[in-house]
Amino acid sequence: MSEQRVFNFSAGPAVLPEVVLREAQRDLFALPGVGASILEVSHRGKEFVEILHAAEANLRKLLAIPENYQVLFLQGGSRLQFSMIPMNLLGDGVADYITTGSWGKNAADEAQKEGSINIAWDGKSTNYDRLPAASAVNLSKNAVYAYFTSNETIQGVQWPKEPDAAEVPLVCDASSDFLSRPVELDKYAVLYACAQKNAGPAGVTVVIIRDDLLARCPERLGGMLNYKNHAENESCYNTPPTFAIYVLKLVTDWLLRDIGGLDKMDELNREKAGWMYDAIDNSNGFYNGHAQADCRSLMNVTFRLPNDDLQAKFLKEASAVALANLKGHRSVGGIRASIYNAMPEQGVARLVEFMEKFRQENG
Ligand code: PMP
Repeated sequence: MSEQRVFNFSAGPAVLPEVVLREAQRDLFALPGVGASILEVSHRGKEFVEILHAAEANLRKLLAIPENYQVLFLQGGSRLQFSMIPMNLLGDGVADYITTGSWGKNAADEAQKEGSINIAWDGKSTNYDRLPAASAVNLSKNAVYAYFTSNETIQGVQWPKEPDAAEVPLVCDASSDFLSRPVELDKYAVLYACAQKNAGPAGVTVVIIRDDLLARCPERLGGMLNYKNHAENESCYNTPPTFAIYVLKLVTDWLLRDIGGLDKMDELNREKAGWMYDAIDNSNGFYNGHAQADCRSLMNVTFRLPNDDLQAKFLKEASAVALANLKGHRSVGGIRASIYNAMPEQGVARLVEFMEKFRQENG
């Protein structure tokens, strides 16, 4: 880490691998062999098309994406997907939403504007601190899809593996744990993620969609809203976010080359999260975790201190030692340490050390 950089625990846009920032910086003036910046070349030109194909190939390799799935690079963030999913897939049917946090709730609210949905489970009554027992999920008989959020970024609640939706096509918002671990994609109909946590900068959203779902996309939808149209135009129906896709390619290069794939990434993430949760569990209740132990997020570690004054002091002192952006989301309060793929182990070690010292001084 160079001296000027802090350890950045932001929930997103979030820390990127230092080597990626340096590569992007180096190539910003002129891409090797091209003589122009990535910011200056046409999205229809050979140079960018090669980058787009390489980004897709990297994703296919990392996630073992089966042949019968399309990989789309879209704009509008994950929030646009809250609308595009029902616009394209709901039709006259009913979709099940399993809401385990704020983002799932937002997605359900948007879907409601497009058609019929069934809230199969909602964790609001316990302030979204847990996952449902399988028997508590009230799936409807003939749902056209079942929707869930694999990692609730605000509450720090993560599914260890996907819920069982039987034959119903499973749709997943994986925005905040995308590329953090392997996924059995053939269990999913759609998996999507905005890039700005684990995959790159804000501006591009990856949508992985099984081919047969494209037949459902209504012709009457505007071109930008129709998955089938984006698939047929290989994500270049309009000008795609070329720079964001380029950085996503660099991040996926890093995952393949420096990390060695998603099994290894998962191992590192488990190690880092383990240190954080040990610090919470061994604090004699000074630090109080938000999520129940069986669904604690490996990406967003949420906890509270005994009172607001101590919380403010914690944030101030952490920031003074270059541990930045630890404030929890305003709707939950407390502390949130986002420890995505690119958060170095030293960053988490430094935070854990700080937490211990702070507890001794203030506990
Ligand atoms: N879903 C999840 C799980 C998120 O964490 C976020 C962003 N924090 C969103 C959706 C919304 O993403 P965007 O801001 O790209 O629309």
